[in-house]
Amino acid sequence: MAKHAKRKVTAPGPATTLVHGGIERSHFGETSEAIFLTQGYVYETAESAEARFKGDDPGHVYSRYSNPTVAMFEERMRLLEGAGGARATASGMAAVNTALMASLSAGDHVVAAKALFGSCRYIIEDLLPRFGVRSTLVDGADLAQWKRAVRKGKTKALFLESPTNPTLELVDIAAVADIAHKAGAKLIVDNVFATPLLQKPLALGADVVVYSATKHIDGQGRCLGGVVLGDEDFIDKVHTLLKHTGPSMSPFNAWVLLKGLETLPIRVERQCSTAAILADRIADHPAVKRTLYPGRPDHPQADLAARQMSGGSTLIAFEMKGGKKKAFAVSNALKVICLSNNLGDAKSLITHPSTTTHQRLTEEARRELGITQGVLRFSVGLEDVEDLWADLSRALDKAA
Ligand SMILES: *Cc1c(COP(=O)(O)O)cnc(C)c1O
Repeated sequence: MAKHAKRKVTAPGPATTLVHGGIERSHFGETSEAIFLTQGYVYETAESAEARFKGDDPGHVYSRYSNPTVAMFEERMRLLEGAGGARATASGMAAVNTALMASLSAGDHVVAAKALFGSCRYIIEDLLPRFGVRSTLVDGADLAQWKRAVRKGKTKALFLESPTNPTLELVDIAAVADIAHKAGAKLIVDNVFATPLLQKPLALGADVVVYSATKHIDGQGRCLGGVVLGDEDFIDKVHTLLKHTGPSMSPFNAWVLLKGLETLPIRVERQCSTAAILADRIADHPAVKRTLYPGRPDHPQADLAARQMSGGSTLIAFEMKGGKKKAFAVSNALKVICLSNNLGDAKSLITHPSTTTHQRLTEEARRELGITQGVLRFSVGLEDVEDLWADLSRALDKAA
């Protein structure tokens, strides 16, 4: 890559960063980011190979370690989040797992909120204890429970997501970060539901942020990806783990995700404004028992939402009167909104969590999280708002 062709743009605005940030042009001067579909790299001399392996020359060595297209994605995410470093992974779960592995060793303790994405809860509750890491699950909204659960010197990581999946409950990130730091632990935030635009966990005091790039960052349902962000020391540990354990992001996926980042602000803005309109209409429908949307004044934590988020959400949770039967009736009557467990997509998607994403949990664990049989999770897409409402209101009327 010719030196003169490099142009690093560190623009202040997020939209500009998401279009130009991290771009490394080749000697062709291509407009769009190039896809470097290569496993390895050739060296001009044996000496330069030695220098690369020693780290004296910062170039790439092998695409399990790093790749130019993946590096562009990482740099763009790093600039957006305002982090010291970023490493991309093959999926969101690889990002969560690696962030936890980089923080914990046998004998350590981890505290996490109960309301977690299913696979995150599996890692905390079932996997880590097999390797000598004990875990405690708390009600994320109850700060006293976090305080009681941490063990000074033993607890090395606190883990949460906010808003939570699927009931869109919030956790006070600044307050939990404070509890973590007093105990000498790091706070890791899974920021998928908020997106990097609506909530800035690092600015609120968190140490590490993880994303499933599969969701809003791709935003068009094409590929899996993840990213871990934190300070340079932490990202060095993440890098070592990724390099030796192998859940690296494919250069092709990195390219798709780079293109996704370019349109992230306009998609999230549009999805949030459509969601805000639909949340109000859903809440007023007689077939609906309860609506949960962080942008509505009747959200149980509306004050916290205003404090730590700069927008509502692209997701709405609502509970049908009449439980599973009515939730299924609504789902089955939809024609525009698709039944799918993904989220953050251009297509509007609806999920019945208790029989799909949260099926693994016991009925009691679901009840604790407010995931009753009537709850539906609605990921608002990019369709016309009136088409979505026509579809949903017809389905709700039918179920009522
Ligand atoms: C989807 C998701 C994950 C896992 O991401 P994958 O890319 O599917 O591996 C983790 N956390 C949250 C909150 C998610 O929504």
